Amino acid sequence: MKNFDADVLIVGGGLVGAALALALKDTPLSVLLLEGREPAFDWPADSWDTRIYAVSGSSRKLLEQTGVWAQLDAARLQAVQTMLIFGDSGPELRFDAPEAGLERLATILESRELQRALWQALQACPNVTLLTPAEPAQLAVDADAATLTLADGRTLSARLLIGADGAQSWVRRQCAIEPQTHDYRQFGVVANFSAEKPHRATAFQWFRTDGVLAWLPLPQDRISMVWSCPAALKDELLALDALQLAARVAAAGGERLGALQTITPAAAFPLRLNHVPKLVAPRVALVGDAAHTVHPLAGQGVNLGFGDVAELAGILSAVLPARCGDLDILRRYERARREPVYLMQGVCHGLQQLFNNNNPLLKAARNFGLGATNQSAWLKRQLIRQAL
Ligand SMILES: Cc1cc2nc3c(=O)[nH]c(=O)nc-3n(C[C@H](O)[C@H](O)[C@H](O)COP(=O)(O)OP(=O)(O)OC[C@H]3O[C@@H](n4cnc5c(N)ncnc54)[C@H](O)[C@@H]3O)c2cc1C
Repeated sequence: MKNFDADVLIVGGGLVGAALALALKDTPLSVLLLEGREPAFDWPADSWDTRIYAVSGSSRKLLEQTGVWAQLDAARLQAVQTMLIFGDSGPELRFDAPEAGLERLATILESRELQRALWQALQACPNVTLLTPAEPAQLAVDADAATLTLADGRTLSARLLIGADGAQSWVRRQCAIEPQTHDYRQFGVVANFSAEKPHRATAFQWFRTDGVLAWLPLPQDRISMVWSCPAALKDELLALDALQLAARVAAAGGERLGALQTITPAAAFPLRLNHVPKLVAPRVALVGDAAHTVHPLAGQGVNLGFGDVAELAGILSAVLPARCGDLDILRRYERARREPVYLMQGVCHGLQQLFNNNNPLLKAARNFGLGATNQSAWLKRQLIRQAL
């Protein structure tokens, strides 16, 4: 009988890997969570993370079930009640939570606050062991186990290895799973501002000829910006000082919230679509950005990752620990996730391509489409239901 260091070994303790470890806390499975970077949670209390997520209702449910939602500071959470979307000319599209029978469309939260709450909750889980900093160097898979050799020479074996190690996943590379990558040749430029006028729990999004600009509401009339734009505009925005940046962003949003003041300087992330053809291999499963990336225009990247977590944790908690790494069990996970992931990738990619185009006919059609959608309460309800 083989000795395992854990039933489940998760590589990557970002939001998705940590959420998976936590979602397994009430199962008989032993879990090892390995993270390359030692987590640091010592930022000033009055600062705001530029990494902001619009968390959907189903992600919230997962975080509530794991007990982590209750640990978040409610004063740093912001409900989204309304979403206003503008084309590059003409009509706007408006979504209201009550119109769709919802209490809110999404909740805005800071990445690092959620990360901290997840790691704190994990420290109280008797079946989860945290290993950080630790760097995997080699992976060997046989019929019963996945065995990791770490850079410091230690070996760790488990019935199931999870790749939760982000878009450049090391685990995925070891399994020779090649993603099909589409480089948008765009960057997501993020920064936070305080606004002169109240945002009234509204998220704004402009499909502009120079990219997609989003303002997400934060508590106390602050907003977080994600501007998905080409490299030249990214360089221009990053070169501006705080005053110039605030003026530029306020003008780009038609001064909807009056004057802005920069509270967190701009940073930029390259934007790529990763379509990963296989989510599982013998004794291995991929979750989160290791399994898929999407354009951030719909703010769905981490929500898709939490969808992976809910599905995989549900499947694993219903099987005997001895079977948790069996390929037929892992294939159930892959089958369940294929459609929602493809659908979200397709919608985000399609919208990005539709608006990143100067063809006058397309321009007329897309703006007509926005206006027509806005006239149909039924269609809007369906869109909200899909997004949730
Ligand atoms: C500009 C921008 C805006 C976005 N906005 C939104 C939004 O509003 N809503 C939303 O849902 N999503 C959004 N996303 C997407 C979201 O950021 C990602 O989907 C999410 O962070 C993925 O989480 P993850 O845990 O899978 O990966 P990551 O966050 O990349 O975490 C991977 C972890 O693995 C660790 N790791 C990596 N390699 C190794 C290794 N070899 N060994 C050990 N550890 C390793 C890393 O240190 C890290 O902690 C946005 C993305 C961008 C770029």
